[in-house]
Amino acid sequence: MKRYRIKFYGIVQGVGFRPFIYRVAKKFNLNGFVQNRSDCVLVEVESDQETLQDFINFIKKNSPPASKITKIEYSSHKLKNYHDFKIVKSKEKLKKLIHIPPDIATCKDCINELFNPDDRRYLYPFINCTNCGPRLTIIKDIPYDRKNTSMNKFKMCNNCLKEYENPEDRRFHAEPIACPECGPQVFLMEIKVESGRWKEEEIIHISRLTSHVSRIIKNLLKQGKIIAIKGLGGFHLCCDATNFEVVKKLRERKLREEKPFAIMVRNINSAKKIAYISQDEENLLLSPQCPIVLLKKKKNTTIADNVAPSLDKYGIMLPYTPIHHLILREIDFLIMTSANLTDEPICIENREAIERLKDIADYFLLHNRDILVRCDDSIAAVFNEKPVVFRHSRGYSPSPIILKKVFSPIMALGGHLKNSICIIKDNYAFLSPHIGDLDNPLARDFFIETIETMKKITDTDPEIIAIDMHPTYFSSQFALMKLRHKKIVKVQHHHAHIVSCMAENGISGKVIGIACDGTGYGTDENIWGGEIFIADEKNFKRSGHINYFKLIGGEIAIKEIYRIGIYFLIKIFGEKWEEYLNLLEINVNSKIFLKNVKRIIEKNVNCVNCSSLGRLFDAVSVILGIREYSNYEGQAAMEMEAIAQKYRGDIIDFSEAVQNNFFINPELIIKKIIELRLKGESIEKLAYSFHFAIINAFVTICKKLRDEFKINRIVLSGGCFQNRILTENLINELTNYNFEVFFHAIVPPNDGGISLGQAIIVGEKLKN
Ligand code: ZN
Ligand code: ZN
Ligand code: FE
Repeated sequence: MKRYRIKFYGIVQGVGFRPFIYRVAKKFNLNGFVQNRSDCVLVEVESDQETLQDFINFIKKNSPPASKITKIEYSSHKLKNYHDFKIVKSKEKLKKLIHIPPDIATCKDCINELFNPDDRRYLYPFINCTNCGPRLTIIKDIPYDRKNTSMNKFKMCNNCLKEYENPEDRRFHAEPIACPECGPQVFLMEIKVESGRWKEEEIIHISRLTSHVSRIIKNLLKQGKIIAIKGLGGFHLCCDATNFEVVKKLRERKLREEKPFAIMVRNINSAKKIAYISQDEENLLLSPQCPIVLLKKKKNTTIADNVAPSLDKYGIMLPYTPIHHLILREIDFLIMTSANLTDEPICIENREAIERLKDIADYFLLHNRDILVRCDDSIAAVFNEKPVVFRHSRGYSPSPIILKKVFSPIMALGGHLKNSICIIKDNYAFLSPHIGDLDNPLARDFFIETIETMKKITDTDPEIIAIDMHPTYFSSQFALMKLRHKKIVKVQHHHAHIVSCMAENGISGKVIGIACDGTGYGTDENIWGGEIFIADEKNFKRSGHINYFKLIGGEIAIKEIYRIGIYFLIKIFGEKWEEYLNLLEINVNSKIFLKNVKRIIEKNVNCVNCSSLGRLFDAVSVILGIREYSNYEGQAAMEMEAIAQKYRGDIIDFSEAVQNNFFINPELIIKKIIELRLKGESIEKLAYSFHFAIINAFVTICKKLRDEFKINRIVLSGGCFQNRILTENLINELTNYNFEVFFHAIVPPNDGGISLGQAIIVGEKLKN
């Protein structure tokens, strides 16, 4: 027997770690203590070597869902003969606790109690414990104590208080603890128009969602009603995913023509009825973060055709709050989409929701636990058997990303689309929940709100602000106008992409970076997005890229993608371009545009140079007859990917596309695609081969760069790497050539991740 001092490092404070250790020590019959230290959690136990190993292994395996152990150190000492195990108050003056846990999906223990008629929380829609429930979304201030949350207004009953104070109870210091006696309640409201006025009518007000009530809700859904449901980080609009008419109605009311809707399914077995699910995907669906997971559609299911039109995948998630579990026990497939008009941030307040959603929802299922921080559902997928997050929000934010180096506080304001912000401090990076596209005034308010939230929960107000170089991004303009008194540093968009991926992988020094996305402002004031850099955390050199083509009319070509297709036709076929327009059956509504386009190009009026892979995908979609207009970001590329996924077989060779070793010529690719299409080659084969034209071009260029610069590490980032065919095959091809390839996991490859890269770049630059 010896006395062991064990130090746990990582995210171990404020996440229920000490009571967890207490219970494990009791389980192993060990005496000693557990204590928070300023940089770790310290545990002392008296034990033999073997029990100690079992004890540590058990902790590693079962640690609380919001915790993350990065390092364990231990040493042995003389016995002190402890005779019990205690949670000891720290003697050191601790730094203010900065780790606010993320919201966590209802755990198994709570679900069991929820459906156990003998439990006092039977059918109680707000059941939670130390391992699950709301966190970030109910926070008013730090530290994370009940009095600083929206649970403050509910006075704990004696039974709850006893559990809250008992270190052996699984609700010890569960701040949102509640029960039907003392906690929040739900109510169902109907919204009607009566003599020209909106009228709300409360139908039921309850503390337990009995089967009677869930049947009422089920019947409404089955009748084709749309219900706004208040959830964890905001409201959802909810309707029957198998009813074409109601999905159509929801699209009309929400002004969302074709963008796919997420589906919440009853359980993993229901999910398997509508999608193919690998073991890794199943684990991701069932993880405590409970994101929407992108999964391959099965054919001939009951899901309505207009849920995810023209795509090969569904976004599917499992119930993650008790309310969801209670509703979904009566129904298998529900549309669960953020409650807002398209492009607006998610609603959180009851009043706000009724005001903003009364034209969309027929009923409201509300409750009286206030949501204080907006948090959308996260979105993730599994690529090459590894999870990758596309929208970093509920369940992930604000859990910090642990950095390899230490930084003084910096706040980075991200991009324009899929905006998120990031604060780095010490060796942590705190990425905010997803904010959205900053074209929208409500999203701009939410952006400003998020800056305040992130400052509060990280307990800093950084003096250094990192922004994108783009002169008209709202985030950049906001900094230049409202944060003038701070030090503002501009960062190139794709450099930020690459460094975000490096930071999350904990690597530094020179890498080959491949950054592919829709739009990013280049140092030459052109639009970049098909870039190959030699980069490190401070600097980059643009070593290769897709050759410039033109966006006729600038920004508008992002929606009217036929403009890019037509540019290529004119560039390739000159006077004969209209002939090819007809041969390829490209439909364009604007006759005026067609009449003037050639002159517009010749005179170079409002034409923007662009090297973006996203825009090249758009052009190829036009050429392949997939679509001429884009209703949402990435639509054309996603539909092309869905078509390409149908093809298996040999690919067309496009190796001539790489020119002068480091440049990709898009005209050669498009010319060949047109010729082959007119010869009758299938769209599927052409779409699939186009992906490989890009993959093989990158591989060729990377090999050249490796020869020249002796760099073997490749970092991939940018929104185009949400494309499965492109990403998986590029990683595999590069790996086959013995490159060491780094890709994203928790930080999104799209613009939702660039704030992290911005912060790190500025942090590194200012170190000298
Ligand atoms: Zn729980
Ligand atoms: Zn209670
Ligand atoms: Fe980008």
